[in-house]
Amino acid sequence: MANYREMWEQLGMDLENHDNLCAVLPTAFGDVYLSQENRPESMDFWDMVVADIHGIRPAELIEEQKKGRKVFGTFCVYVPDEVVIAADGIVTGLCGGSQFWVPDGEAVLPKSTCPLIKASVGARLGKTCPFFRIADMYVGETTCDGKKKAWEILGKDVPMYVMDMPQMKRAKDVTKWMEEVEDFAAVVEKTTGKTITPEKLAESIHIINEKRKALARVYETRKADVIPISGKDALLMMQIAFFDDPERCAQMANRLADELEQRVKDGVSVFPAGTKRILVTGTPMAIPNWKLHHIIETSGGAVVCEETCTGTRYFENLVDETGTTLEEQYRAIAERYMGIHCACFTPNTERVDDILRLAKEYKVDGVIDVNLKFCCLYDTEGYVVEKALKEAGIPVLGIETDYTDADAEQLRTRIEAFIEMLG
Ligand code: SF4
Ligand code: SF4
Repeated sequence: MANYREMWEQLGMDLENHDNLCAVLPTAFGDVYLSQENRPESMDFWDMVVADIHGIRPAELIEEQKKGRKVFGTFCVYVPDEVVIAADGIVTGLCGGSQFWVPDGEAVLPKSTCPLIKASVGARLGKTCPFFRIADMYVGETTCDGKKKAWEILGKDVPMYVMDMPQMKRAKDVTKWMEEVEDFAAVVEKTTGKTITPEKLAESIHIINEKRKALARVYETRKADVIPISGKDALLMMQIAFFDDPERCAQMANRLADELEQRVKDGVSVFPAGTKRILVTGTPMAIPNWKLHHIIETSGGAVVCEETCTGTRYFENLVDETGTTLEEQYRAIAERYMGIHCACFTPNTERVDDILRLAKEYKVDGVIDVNLKFCCLYDTEGYVVEKALKEAGIPVLGIETDYTDADAEQLRTRIEAFIEMLG
């Protein structure tokens, strides 16, 4: 990593503890990523980003703040980036994906909270993540109980705005979400001091749609018989997408898609012929949570798709760009976001439909349904997901895990047996 100590110090970070994190990350990345063979050359961009993950982008954000722009930290794919960008704000993802942050989260949260929430709270309170220090405002949502209560704790330490998610998807719920988006827009305008106009919103809707299309292009290549990119690399692209500038994200994803499309034409695969194709579904995998993908792809499988918030839920479906008034545009935003199928909704049959559709489109041999420990929502929904898959004749393995390595060998044994069974 380049030397960003002065910047971290000015951000009020715990430098000593942060050094411990910086010491392990390169080794973890090297073991999981750089050990792969025949990676697409375009992954050099994401390798560079990870190599300086607490330096390059945070420094960019600070430069923008000096020009008067505000940074909004978000934790969920339901928070509409379009609104923030239309007011000249910047969005950065804040979900924590490392065990490193969990103990600081456990200092204030019950142990029986999902690791994603514990890591997110710990990253702030432990002062070991620059993104959590930089954000001018956090934007939470009332998706799950753990998050709802965590916002109250984080809200004592940093300005926090919470969007109230409906729990169902009836027409009146979509309207309610539209009102919630409008309320959020008013808060963003107040924070940035900028007015959202239909022209600005049309522009930001287009920017985020282009980003979605670029990410979707990369995923499209994973449907081919030859697998041009590992699941691990695709996951890394998705994880960084939450932090990066959206236009650069689209540019880099399109560059990668160009290379992958050529690989498909040339019959270049990163896995030997016959490698079992796996769809991963379930809870999100925030950076640097690469655990499951790494185990699958070193156990004879290839992850070809993720039906998660760090996968298809992030980019599928576009916001309608034909609206010309703010009302039409907010409605279009609300409708697109309510088309994301998180387990926090009831009923949530559309998610099951998505999984069955994706299993077919990506020609998968089996599905791994992953649940982060203590996530009651996805754990419970696992019953209907796994039942539907079995009924459709698609082999499925349900697993529960966290960010530690304690269960890695046990998981490997189960996943190896599952993949062998597919053969
Ligand atoms: S799983 Fe649900 S709560 Fe978590 S990021 Fe996705 S949509 Fe938001
Ligand atoms: S994984 Fe589950 S418990 Fe954790 S934040 Fe997401 S919805 Fe909430």
